[in-house]
Amino acid sequence: MKLANYVYGQWVEGAGEGTALTDPVTGETLVRVSSDGVDVARALEFARREGGAALKAMTYEERAAKLAAIAELLTAKRAEYFDISLRNSGATEGDAGFDVDGAIFTVKTYARAGKALGAARHLKEGSRVALAKTDVFQGQHFLMPLTGAAVFINAFNFPAWGLWEKAAPALLAGVPVFAKPATPTAWLAQRMVADVVEAGILPPGAISIVCGSARDLLDHVTECDVVSFTGSADTAARMRTHPNVVARSVRLNIEADSVNSAILGPDAKPGTAEFDLAVKEIVREMTVKTGQKCTAIRRILAPAGTSRALADAVSGKLAGCKVGNPRSEGVRVGPLVSKAQQAAAFEGLAKLREECEVVFGGDPDFEPVDADAAVSAFVQPTLLFCDKGLAARHVHDVEVFGPVATIVPYAGTADAIAIARRGHGSLVASVYSGDAAFLGELVPAIADLHGRVMVVDAAVGANHTGHGNVMPSCLHGGPGRAGGGEELGGLRALAMYHRRCVVQGGPAVLEALSRDAVDAALLGA
Ligand code: NAP
Repeated sequence: MKLANYVYGQWVEGAGEGTALTDPVTGETLVRVSSDGVDVARALEFARREGGAALKAMTYEERAAKLAAIAELLTAKRAEYFDISLRNSGATEGDAGFDVDGAIFTVKTYARAGKALGAARHLKEGSRVALAKTDVFQGQHFLMPLTGAAVFINAFNFPAWGLWEKAAPALLAGVPVFAKPATPTAWLAQRMVADVVEAGILPPGAISIVCGSARDLLDHVTECDVVSFTGSADTAARMRTHPNVVARSVRLNIEADSVNSAILGPDAKPGTAEFDLAVKEIVREMTVKTGQKCTAIRRILAPAGTSRALADAVSGKLAGCKVGNPRSEGVRVGPLVSKAQQAAAFEGLAKLREECEVVFGGDPDFEPVDADAAVSAFVQPTLLFCDKGLAARHVHDVEVFGPVATIVPYAGTADAIAIARRGHGSLVASVYSGDAAFLGELVPAIADLHGRVMVVDAAVGANHTGHGNVMPSCLHGGPGRAGGGEELGGLRALAMYHRRCVVQGGPAVLEALSRDAVDAALLGA
């Protein structure tokens, strides 16, 4: 079966044989995708003209109601989505929940938050500014929804959440969505869009999807569109320099890879709550979605005196994790999504092994439970230890996109700060400490290079939301290597789908424009 593309209000099957999407446990071909023959320019034009106009005719609260209907529909179909996740991504039930339930929760959050924007159609920022001696001529800043399309080019690891965490704020802003999921796992995103289209929740053109190669997509984006990309730093670099993107100053949001850290404070010694909380989170981050999370812990910074005990504790827990076919009883860790990803992970692991000791896993003859190692895409969870600190050549740069993390001992707070910063910009760092002096020095010193810093102490205990878990109400993104993008953060995300314009004129025109506006301060509320 070939999955159809939904463009210009029609289902269009791509030409040719297409690319096979496979089951990473059995190697079986599941469906095929092709974007060949799709007129991307026409599809974008249809989205802007039909979808954009229909969405903009609605108010924020009306669009929020559409999101609520989408969340309800996705919830009703949840079991089908879990089945696709299992087959196309080798996801355990927990992994599928992370993606599918994360998507539903995010759409629900925007449906709820969007209601607060009421019957408005654009946003008014701050008060009027006086520009003349009397009030005859003034200025007012507005945030106006983009008249173009929101083009989403997504990564393979979150086919559901990756689509909806972007689509929810875009639709709420009144901007039509044009989705290009990553090929290896496009099935789930395509099915979700198909369900929303079939249910008739959105007006024609408000959502489109193209599966398979992006082909000439970037040749047709304009200054009125926004391109939001999630994927590797290499692809991101190609997008930033794309001639049409450069020539038209197309708004580009990039969420790229990152070598995130978990940092144990000097007080997080064996026997403390902070130590135990760190061990639990490290194991969770290495195993949930088999480490295929952009936010996953890659480097574990521990005081030199604690690092060996930490290695033992994490190894002990990893030894208890059953790795194999998620259909098999008790399996907690599934495969990577494809043979290609497995090969990339082995390549990265080999680089790290040049300068690291393997303390757990890394067995080339590792046998997954109930799966044939020859056709499946498993990587054994692997814990490494690197005593080279800042001098390490690969540990701070190589993101092994799988169940692999490296313990890096540090000598003191300044050293921990320098190592965390050596990631050159990360999505998240989690810190396990109740030492106020340590936190007071470390957190401000790493905050400008991290989109999120999560501090866990005994008082927070198990109530935290997780190192790798992205909450829709909080910022997601990171500087530098992480791409420099910003997503989510509650209604703050709407800023990306609006453009600021100051209108200068007399009170009457500003008054008239303000009638349809709601206070932009609500975005940060
Ligand atoms: P990728 O290879 O960079 O692909 C990402 C997307 O870009 C896919 O949809 C891909 O399509 C498309 N693409 C590739 N070349 C393109 C081009 N020349 N023009 C337009 N689109 C193009 O990344 P991936 O392997 O799917 O994802 C894994 C990476 O994503 C990891 O490094 C991970 O850290 C990162 N990630 C980051 C975040 C975040 O929020 N920061 C979240 C998840 C993942 P095809 O699949 O058809 O090639």
